[in-house]
Amino acid sequence: MNIILFGPPGAGKGTQAKYLVQKLDGFQISTGDMLRNEIQKNSDIGQKIINDMNDGKFVSDNIVNKLIENVLVDPQKKDNLIFDGYPRSLSQAKNLDLMLKKLNQKIDVIFFLNVNKETIKERIEKRRVLEKRTDDTSTTFVKRFDTYMKTTRPLLDFYSKNSNFHEIDGTLKIEEIRTKIDAFLNF
Ligand code: AMP
Repeated sequence: MNIILFGPPGAGKGTQAKYLVQKLDGFQISTGDMLRNEIQKNSDIGQKIINDMNDGKFVSDNIVNKLIENVLVDPQKKDNLIFDGYPRSLSQAKNLDLMLKKLNQKIDVIFFLNVNKETIKERIEKRRVLEKRTDDTSTTFVKRFDTYMKTTRPLLDFYSKNSNFHEIDGTLKIEEIRTKIDAFLNF
């Protein structure tokens, strides 16, 4: 099963993705983690993206799509992917559809974790202390949230028409969200 988790920064996508990975014995595709890893390795990609990431800007589609493609072509991960943080724009969503089609795969379920700005702001403050992410500052948060509203949220129009789209109240407790996910997946 291929599953997309999408929602604003701090919606809990990563937490629920990890749960699904365990439950389905699947593979998490977190573009944020992959990009942070490039920065940590100080690779060519890492050097190109560090400023944009710290500024709360999107990394270019060329870079992100290539990272995704490298995972999609791995036969061991076929039909067993949990997307967390990708796609984040209409062009990425279209690219993902194309790539999956070429590989005889599709998206089986889409979960939208809906959380209001105030709740996310509080969560990101806490995460900054716990995870020390350099893009979790209050200034960067405002930019990331604006970018989300402008570029990622329009994906709702693209995905919400599908019968496999489910909106979940992301302000619920982690366990409550899990229960809802389980119910949608008939676990
Ligand atoms: P995340 O860990 O998902 O919150 O992502 C952290 C940062 O990584 C984002 O603010 C972007 O700068 C970058 N990033 C992650 N995923 C993408 C993506 N699909 N497209 C462009 N930039 C991304």
